[in-house]
Amino acid sequence: MDLPAGIGAALAFVLGAIVGSFVTAVAYRVPREMSIALPRSFCESCERSLPIWANVPILAYLGLRGRCVMCGAPIPFRNFLAELGLAVAALYLYLTFPPGSAIARFMLCAALFAIALIDYDWRIIPNAITLPGIVVGLASAALLMSDEVGWRSALLGILLGTGVLFLTGYLYELVRGREGVGMGDVWLLAMVGAFLGWPGVVFTLFFGSLLGAVGGLAMALTGGRRAQAPVADPSADLPETDVSILRTEIPFGPFLSLAAGSYALFQPQLMHWYLGG
Ligand SMILES: [Zn+2]
Repeated sequence: MDLPAGIGAALAFVLGAIVGSFVTAVAYRVPREMSIALPRSFCESCERSLPIWANVPILAYLGLRGRCVMCGAPIPFRNFLAELGLAVAALYLYLTFPPGSAIARFMLCAALFAIALIDYDWRIIPNAITLPGIVVGLASAALLMSDEVGWRSALLGILLGTGVLFLTGYLYELVRGREGVGMGDVWLLAMVGAFLGWPGVVFTLFFGSLLGAVGGLAMALTGGRRAQAPVADPSADLPETDVSILRTEIPFGPFLSLAAGSYALFQPQLMHWYLGG
């Protein structure tokens, strides 16, 4: 593992970009129940296979100015963002944490990125990512991050994450008479707990709820009414002031993912800041 620092950093960046490209493929294919492996990369507009060189992460997007080489349709900007974002994350983790810890944190970040994209698009969080994620996270906490997390904290994190969100969802349904927290969110937080231990769950819950409240308020004020009952519905003649966050279905996953990802990347700084050291 004694790579010259420059080469190791470059490798981390390239590997991060490749995983970022893979994450966009997962986010596109998993909800459509397509295979991850086949067919190989294709344009989402013309559905033709891309030549090998057009698959090079980051560079292909820049070289083609964000357009499909065959049909000229715009390539989603977020694909570029995922490639660049995970490349920078991998580089930063490589330079900041011990190798095992960096790998574990990166795996979590990649899974969170895919989940955020899928939940934003489809309002679902696939068990196909979270359930294996819980197992991988627990193994990582015990083997790769035994000093920082360890299996006890990971198990507590799984229990805390599952318990708190499950209870919240149960109470919400009791009060509002409809599902407010999906089981997808529950398993997502369990996965976060498995990787980061119980303090990671506490941070993700608080910071994620804060982000969700701000984001939900923004959505309720801008586009929230579209998500509400159609005008023909007799229950729709509610007072105008009832545009509440609770009535607007917002995807919680992207906010939880952002909070958990922040913790995975900046845990030392956050602890330092929180403890006022
Ligand atoms: Zn195309």
